[in-house]
Amino acid sequence: MTTVLALETSDIRFPTSTSLDGSDAMNLDPDYSTAYVRIVTDAADGHEGHGFVFTIGRGNDVQVAAIQALSAHLVGRNVEDLLDNMGATWREFVWDSQLRWLGPEKGVMHMAIGAVVNALWDLKAKRAGLPLWQLLGRMTPEQIVELIDFRYLTDALTPDEALAILRAAVPGRAEREAQLLSDGYPAYTTTPGWLGYSDEKLVRLAKEAVADGFSMIKLKVGADLHDDIRRMRLARETVGPDIRIGTDANQRWGVDEAIEWMSHLAEFDVAWIEEPTSPDDILAHAAIARGVAPIPVATGEHMANRIMFKQFLQADALQIVQIDATRVGGVNENIAILLLAAKFGVPVCPHAGGVGLCEAVQHLSMFDFVAVSATSEGRVIEFVDHLHEHFVTPVVMRGGAYQAPTAPGAGTEMHAASRAQYAFGSADSAASMLASHV
Ligand SMILES: [Mg+2]
Repeated sequence: MTTVLALETSDIRFPTSTSLDGSDAMNLDPDYSTAYVRIVTDAADGHEGHGFVFTIGRGNDVQVAAIQALSAHLVGRNVEDLLDNMGATWREFVWDSQLRWLGPEKGVMHMAIGAVVNALWDLKAKRAGLPLWQLLGRMTPEQIVELIDFRYLTDALTPDEALAILRAAVPGRAEREAQLLSDGYPAYTTTPGWLGYSDEKLVRLAKEAVADGFSMIKLKVGADLHDDIRRMRLARETVGPDIRIGTDANQRWGVDEAIEWMSHLAEFDVAWIEEPTSPDDILAHAAIARGVAPIPVATGEHMANRIMFKQFLQADALQIVQIDATRVGGVNENIAILLLAAKFGVPVCPHAGGVGLCEAVQHLSMFDFVAVSATSEGRVIEFVDHLHEHFVTPVVMRGGAYQAPTAPGAGTEMHAASRAQYAFGSADSAASMLASHV
């Protein structure tokens, strides 16, 4: 028997605001951060579970405190009980009636649950000696369905329908695993498109993206229409007609403004418009989707839970689902969202970048390819080339594709030295906080 000894948390912040990496129309000076959790056990093998919530600086301490609030559910508990019944473990956290008042199932407390759930999956995958995508992709359809809380979902997706989707994808699982190990999973890059970059930097990075094999780039839009038209024209001239260009407004607009703005960018052959308005506004997204068609609407990185995804899909308010590894309640809830997307026939193109989001979310897309949608058609994972060096098993990109991880775990473990160096209050972190206030 193995016991959880400690839930160790840390507030880690990187000084990204000094270079305007990650800048967009709403997030002007992000300091990429993680509210980090390490689950320590008394196991002789020394395996630990690592997870985190991505934030962009101030408030990361609040997120850390929310993770700490889950200690009572973990410290002293039998590890095998927790890991062998991940569906029940998820429900125990989410159904804690007092903590639930802080949501329900949304915001800081729900993301804290996601960090702990992801850390437990990291531990489970390490103990199994498998990367998370393979661990999940080798579970039976019945075991996968058991992970999901179908409360609030059955009007759109029943357990029987989920089972049918998963069973239909059982044939060919081994071939698709092999395909991932040889070819990887397709990616697109946002690296050229940050709003704070000069035109020269945009052109240089767009050229590099094409040379690196990416078939799609993405530009931040929404601050100034004339700038957006100039930048989109430059980008299109730079990459040529065959590379897709997505756009991302980071929630900047209302309905009419979104439709009007996009009418000026449509001539540049836009792959999608991402987060045109408030992530909670289903009817507005539906109206925008009708207004900007045939440009698809993509959203999800700020969507609070599976219930919101369900309604967006029911309302035809999005055409591309963008899951995020640390926004919802962890791996379990993201599997529910992958199944909802499969039910509605909508492609999943995950949000990534930040700190560790690429490392984490690649496992979910690869699992989706092996065991859920069984296709990568029309699907790409976002890639941003920031901060990977801080992770024990950083992503490997080749030819514009994520190479399938082979190391055991969920990819979420940050080097101890990085955690120490960028702990909030340390010298590096303090310099960043000062810079962001000047
Ligand atoms: Mg985005």
